[in-house]
Amino acid sequence: MSSADQPVQMRTGIGVDVHPFDTDPMRPLHLVGLAWPGEEPGLSGHSDGDVGAHAAADALLSAAGLGDLGSNFGTDDLRWAGARGTMLLAEAGERVRAAGWTIDNIAVQVIGNRPRLGPRREEAQAVLSEAVGAPVSVAATTTDGLGLTGRGEGLAAIATALLHR
Ligand code: MG
Repeated sequence: MSSADQPVQMRTGIGVDVHPFDTDPMRPLHLVGLAWPGEEPGLSGHSDGDVGAHAAADALLSAAGLGDLGSNFGTDDLRWAGARGTMLLAEAGERVRAAGWTIDNIAVQVIGNRPRLGPRREEAQAVLSEAVGAPVSVAATTTDGLGLTGRGEGLAAIATALLHR
């Protein structure tokens, strides 16, 4: 119970995102809040295609019951054309907080063959945590060559978020 004798509400949310690698071989890769020079082609999409940041933002909106990335940042809204994933994540965080929620943490897992996230995991966690103002953890896995990520056609990410108020 809080000091005002209101029960604390806790909510979890989930987010999934998938983007294909672009047909332009020079398209830069943006993933989990970082630029990845040398990893072209990057992901295609209306924004920067950052599946990790997008899944994290979706998980936040999901937990707060505020809809999803599409209903909040529609592709018909030119403000978000080419937007950095970290911008969308920061804005999702603002909307969740405006609804009275405190963000406890977000966990993101990227699914795909490349890039190797391990060497830059801490950097990604720092950038995403800074963007949203709450701890974000980043992990990665492959699918042993199966499916669209296993065939190297794109990347996927899944995220969960925990909120309370
Ligand atoms: Mg996306």
